[in-house]
Amino acid sequence: MNIGIAGLGLIGGSLGLDLRTLGHYVWGISRSPDTCKQAVAIGAVDAACQEADMIPYLAETEVVFICTPIPSILPAIATIAPKLKSSAIVTDVGSVKSAIVTEATKLCDRFVGSHPMAGTAFSGINAAEPNLFNQRPCVVTPSQDLEAMAVVRSLWESVGAIVYECSPEAHDRAVAWISHLPVMVSAGLILACQQEVDDEITHLAQQLASSGFRDTSRVGGGNPELGRLMAEYNQPALLKTLHTYQDVLQSLIADLESGNWDAIQILLEKTQTLRPLYVE
Ligand code: NAP
Repeated sequence: MNIGIAGLGLIGGSLGLDLRTLGHYVWGISRSPDTCKQAVAIGAVDAACQEADMIPYLAETEVVFICTPIPSILPAIATIAPKLKSSAIVTDVGSVKSAIVTEATKLCDRFVGSHPMAGTAFSGINAAEPNLFNQRPCVVTPSQDLEAMAVVRSLWESVGAIVYECSPEAHDRAVAWISHLPVMVSAGLILACQQEVDDEITHLAQQLASSGFRDTSRVGGGNPELGRLMAEYNQPALLKTLHTYQDVLQSLIADLESGNWDAIQILLEKTQTLRPLYVE
C-alpha cells in the first residue's frame, strides 16, 4: 500500500519502520527538514517532506496515519484530508479518543480512530524503534465505514498489535485507569519523596532506591508534555479515577493509624490476586 505518516516521532517513526519492513511504500510529513532527513536515513520512510511540499505525494496515498501530538491531530486532518483521493482512509494514534473522533469524522468521511498502547520514555524520530507495537494492545474505534475499519485493523495487526474495538468514551474511561491515573500517581510518589524535610534522609533514600522505586516511578518520570495532554484532554475521566484513588488512600491511612494490620493484609492479598487481571 501507499501510506502517509504525519508526525515523524516515536510513534510515527516506529510505525514507518515496521510498515516499510512489510513492503509498503511509506512517506512522511514533518515540520522540520532535519527530521525529514533523519527519518529517511534510519529507514522509517521512503521519502519525507514538509507540509507545504506534500501535494505530489497525496494523489497515490491510500492510508494516512496522523501521529502528531494531540492538539495538532485535528488541524493536521483538516489540512490533509481534503487533498486526498476520496477512497483514502485517515486514522490517528492519539492517546485520547473522544476529543478527536467526533470532530475528525466531520473532517474526513473515511476516518477511523486508533490508539496503540505502546511507548517508551523517549520522543522524537531518534526514539523510533522496530517492533514497538508487537503483542501490544491497540484500540480501533467504531465507524460506519466497515471497509475502512477493516483496513486500519489489518494494518495494526500486520505490525503485531492486538486490536480491540471500543467506543471513544469507553476508551477514555479505561485508559484513565490504566494509563493516565498511573502517570499522576507515579508523579505524586516522586513529589512526595521530595517532601522529606531532612536532606540527609532524602540523599540516603536516593542512594537506596532500587527496583521497586524504578517500577513505581517510571511513568511519573516520563514525557511531561504527553502527561499534561492526557490530563487536559481526558480531564473528567482522569479526575474521577484520582478521586477514587484518594478514597482508597484515605482508607489505607485510617487502617494504618488504627493499627488495623489484618485489614492491610487482606487488602494486599486482594491486590496480589487482582494484579494479574491487568498485567502478566
Ligand atoms: P513525539 O515523539 O514527540 O513525536 C511527535 C512528532 O510530531 C514530533 O517528532 C514532531 O516532529 C511532530 N510534531 C510536534 N508538534 C507538532 C505540531 N504542532 N504539528 C505537527 N507536527 C508536530 O510524540 P509521540 O510519542 O510519537 O506521540 C505522537 C502521538 O502518539 C500523540 O498523539 C500521542 O498521544 C500518541 N501516542 C503516544 C504514545 C507514547 O507513549 N509516546 C503511545 C501511544 C500514542 P517535528 O518537530 O519534526 O515536526
